[in-house]
Amino acid sequence: QSYTRIGQVESKVRAFLTLDEENARQAAVKLDEQLTSGQARGDLFGLPIGIKDNMVTEGLRTTCASKFLSNYNPIYDATVVSKLKEAQTVTIGKLNMDEFAMGGSNENSAYHPTHNPWNTDYVPGGSSGGSAAAVAAGEVYFSLGSDTGGSIRQPAAYCGIVGLKPTYGLVSRYGLVAFASSLDQIGPLTKNVEDSAYLLQAIAGYDAKDSTSAKVDIPDYLSALTGDVKGLRIGVPKEYMGNGIDPAVKEKVLEALKVLEGLGAVWEEVSLPHSEYAVATYYLLASSEASSNLARFDGIRYGVRSDNANNLLDLYHLSRSEGFGPEVKRRIMLGTYALSSGYYDAYYLKAQQVRTLIKQDFDQVFEKYDIIIGPTAPTPAFKIGEQSNDPLTMYLNDIMTIPVSLAGIPAISVPCGFVNELPVGLQVIGKALDEATLLRVAHAFE
Ligand code: GLN
Repeated sequence: QSYTRIGQVESKVRAFLTLDEENARQAAVKLDEQLTSGQARGDLFGLPIGIKDNMVTEGLRTTCASKFLSNYNPIYDATVVSKLKEAQTVTIGKLNMDEFAMGGSNENSAYHPTHNPWNTDYVPGGSSGGSAAAVAAGEVYFSLGSDTGGSIRQPAAYCGIVGLKPTYGLVSRYGLVAFASSLDQIGPLTKNVEDSAYLLQAIAGYDAKDSTSAKVDIPDYLSALTGDVKGLRIGVPKEYMGNGIDPAVKEKVLEALKVLEGLGAVWEEVSLPHSEYAVATYYLLASSEASSNLARFDGIRYGVRSDNANNLLDLYHLSRSEGFGPEVKRRIMLGTYALSSGYYDAYYLKAQQVRTLIKQDFDQVFEKYDIIIGPTAPTPAFKIGEQSNDPLTMYLNDIMTIPVSLAGIPAISVPCGFVNELPVGLQVIGKALDEATLLRVAHAFE
C-alpha cells in the first residue's frame, strides 16, 4: 500500500534518500511468521514507517544526507530502530534531511531538496523535512525525526502534521549520528496526537547505551488523552507574539487559544525575557558541539575517502573538504573558533551561562502555569530557494523552537489552520518529563 502511494507521489515530493522494498518485504514476511507462530499482534503491527537518515539502520544505507557517508552501511540498529522493530513496524526507507541535521528547509541535503506536499514550490521545513513530508503525503504511516533546535517541530508545522520533541534524555540517542549532543533528541512525526502517543510509548525509556538517558518510569501516554483541559493554566510568552511574527500566524494562535478557553482552560500573557539571546546562544553551542562531534569524519573511519591525497594530513584535509557541504563547513569553522583558547570564555562559556538564564525563564513561568503556548514558527513555509543564500534569515525561523531545546524541555507542534493555503503549527511547551500534559492538551485541541 505504502509503495503504491510512494509510486504516485514520490517523484514530486522526494522525501526519501533510500527506499528498500526488499528489506521491507522481508520484514513483512517475518511479521507474518511471528503471527503464525502464535505471537501477539502489537498496536503498531505491520505499520509502514520511515526513519530520518541520521539514525543508523543495520544493512540499510545511512547517509545523514551527506556525500561523506554516501557509502555507509551501518552494522547495527539505533536503539529507537530496534524498539520499532520489536513493536512490529516495517521500515520502508530512509528520509531526506539537511546535511547532518544542519538547516531548516532540506535545501542543505547533498542529494536533492524535498518538496512540501501542500505546495511543491515550497520547502517542507527541516532538518527532518523528509520525515514530515513523507507523513503528510501519506507515503508512510509515521516517521522518526530528530530535533536539535526545532527540526521536528518546524517541519511538522510547515507540513501540517504533529511533531513531538520529547524531554532531553527521554528517548535514547544511541545510534543517532550526533550533531549537538547536549540538544539532540529523537521524536515522532505523525498525522495526529494519538499516533504520537503510541509512538512515544514505543521509543521512550532508559537505555544504558546512552549516558544521558534518563532513568525514569514511563507513564501510559495513551491514558493521558482524556480531552479534559478544564482549569488548565496557559502562559503565552509575549516575546513569541510580538515583532517578527506574521500577523496571520498570530491570528491562528489566538484562535487556538479561544478554542482552549472554550474547553475551560485559562490563558495569560507571560514573559521569557532572555528569548532574544536564544538564537545566538544556540548557534555558538550547537556549532561548537558539532565541530567536536564531526571530527570523527576523517576519511578513515567512516565514509568516503579522498582519492587525491599523497599523505595522511592531505587525506584528512581532502576527505573533509570534498565530503562536507557548505553549511556543515560553516558550522565547523564557527564552532572551532568559539572553542579555541582565548575565545572559549568569551563565546562558549558565555553561551553556556545564557543557556542557564533561558532555562530559568521557563522554570519561573512553570511555577504558575501548566503549559506554555505560542506559534511553532513565525511564518508558514517559504519558497524553495527564497532563503537559501541568506543563512541568518534562515536561522531566525527557529526563534521559537530553539529556547525550548536549550532548556531541554518537551514541546509538540500541532496543526492550527492555514495561512495562504499553507499549514500553521501551534507549539505547546511543557515541563520536563511532562509529555503526558502536552499530549493531553494537543489532543483536546486537535
Ligand atoms: N534549523 C536549526 C539548525 O539549522 C535546527 C536544526 C535541528 O534541529 N537539527 O541548526
